[in-house]
Amino acid sequence: MRTTEYLLATQKETPADAEVISHKLMLRAGIVRKLASGLYTWLPTGLRVLNKVAAIVRDEMNKAGAIEISMPVVQPADLWQESKRWEEYGPELLRIKDRHERDFVLGPTHEEVVTTLVKNEVSSYKQLPLNLYQIQTKFRDEVRPRFGIMRSREFIMKDAYSFHIDGESLEQTYQRMHQAYCNIFERIGLEYRPVIADSGSIGGAVSHEFHVLADSGEDDIAFSDSSDYAANVELAEAVCTDARPGASKEMTKVATPGATTIEQVAQMLSIDSTACVKTLIVEAAEDAPHPFVAIVLRGDHQLNDVKASKHPLIASPFSMAKEEDVKAHLGCHFGSIGPVNLALPILVDRSAATCADFVCGANEDGQHFTGVDWERDVSDFEVVDLRNVVPGDASPDGKGTLQIRKGIEVGHIFQLGDKYSQAMNCGVLSESGKHQVLQMGCYGIGVTRIVAAAIEQNHDKYGIKWPLAIAPFEVAIIPMNMHKSHRIMETALKLYADFIGSGVEVLFDDRKERPGVMFNDMELIGIPHSIVIGERNLDNQQVEYKNRLTGEKTLINIDEVIAFIT
Ligand code: ATP
Ligand code: MG
Ligand code: MG
Ligand code: MG
Repeated sequence: MRTTEYLLATQKETPADAEVISHKLMLRAGIVRKLASGLYTWLPTGLRVLNKVAAIVRDEMNKAGAIEISMPVVQPADLWQESKRWEEYGPELLRIKDRHERDFVLGPTHEEVVTTLVKNEVSSYKQLPLNLYQIQTKFRDEVRPRFGIMRSREFIMKDAYSFHIDGESLEQTYQRMHQAYCNIFERIGLEYRPVIADSGSIGGAVSHEFHVLADSGEDDIAFSDSSDYAANVELAEAVCTDARPGASKEMTKVATPGATTIEQVAQMLSIDSTACVKTLIVEAAEDAPHPFVAIVLRGDHQLNDVKASKHPLIASPFSMAKEEDVKAHLGCHFGSIGPVNLALPILVDRSAATCADFVCGANEDGQHFTGVDWERDVSDFEVVDLRNVVPGDASPDGKGTLQIRKGIEVGHIFQLGDKYSQAMNCGVLSESGKHQVLQMGCYGIGVTRIVAAAIEQNHDKYGIKWPLAIAPFEVAIIPMNMHKSHRIMETALKLYADFIGSGVEVLFDDRKERPGVMFNDMELIGIPHSIVIGERNLDNQQVEYKNRLTGEKTLINIDEVIAFIT
């Protein structure tokens, strides 16, 4: 690419209305331009970066067995009424009407659309598991769009949705996605942390967020200095011990409609009722059709007995000796996820070797129990309110002390369970020929937000320092006063052609500008490698190489330039 045939769109002045460094640099380096509040145009340099991020995301999703599709941005309102989110979602959901006065929404997320698709296209357990994803525009009418494309109203998300016959299969895909996300952020070259997250209005029990650590982050992340424990301090329903893949084994919600006795629940879940020590029927909220049920398994019955029943149950490392504690626990859990047509069995896996010293579910928003083990009474447990933690507090997993850093949420994965499949009646014929409602997971990545997060982590006073994997160009050719020197022009043209021939993405600054202007622009844009062509070095058949990331400068022989870069 030649700068004279390109839209560089760099700016000298620091824009007054930009608060954070990434926003300032995105405007100055010609990455984006604001059209209106929360709406941005991607300029050519920005789009090159964005496409690279998307390509890495796509590649890792494909490698992890996900299948790409594309769903409409505009979605009919009746799907949202079916899932009840028409009422629940609030003003972030932009509602529009067509010429026939029919209601539509601009999709902030696609659970409803994809669940409808799978309901219509998939009929047998043999077609499962299935993980569908898209990389596509979302719209959320954010109350406070800010920091440029970091929190915009229109943005690009990679959203994936997986469908399963049982919880075990969901758990497997969830771990695969967790790993795919780690691969993505590592490949892009970001410092990130997976953290335990609140599953919020989307429903479901198990959830992790991926945060890029940066001072401008809007979230506080508490993490242990001596273990993998990390959690978002906004956490309202902490239910697991740490954020390592495979480490979280939590309660899941399972439908046992109408059941009010241990025998009925056990029958519906295909559990031998003699395996249960006791069952506690807990009153649900008024508008819920079924009560919650908590089951405590006998010590000699292991989780495997239940797994063998092929029911999507996952163990909770929770021992609740007192009925009131269970009520308190479930009452709040219920309150925070909204009315659902579900019962909640709680199983205790006594077989697990580590069945002690757990961190367990909150019975108040933002709180969770620490040091839980089977033998101890719930009332003994220390309650931690993560919202009030300060650096140096003991880590809830009992290992080391907590540090707190700001994080930018760039990804979020959830085990949804059957929240959407139940509401929208998405099921298949199971192996035994019965209709079975599917288990679902969903997995989001903020593709546009990653670009801003990458700048927050990689910049200096001169501008952006793109990680190599997402740099808009690999090399800049900066010829000094080329328009006055035939041999400089000739060398530049030759190198330019050679780079193109070698498949290197090169930006050739062929403007009639002073060298200082060119240097500043190329530094601002953050191209990793620069080749500076000047008279003096040409006398020795050399050019100057500059590395934007390390600051390294060295002279290279002209005929070795391509080999040096590639
Ligand atoms: P946030 O807490 O920042 O509002 P969220 O939890 O509402 O994000 P999710 O529903 O989990 O977002 O969506 C998946 C991903 O989409 C997020 O992890 C984030 O990277 C990205 N994202 C969400 N909202 C925006 C936005 N307004 N602008 C840019 N990216 C966003
Ligand atoms: Mg949000
Ligand atoms: Mg969030
Ligand atoms: Mg989120």
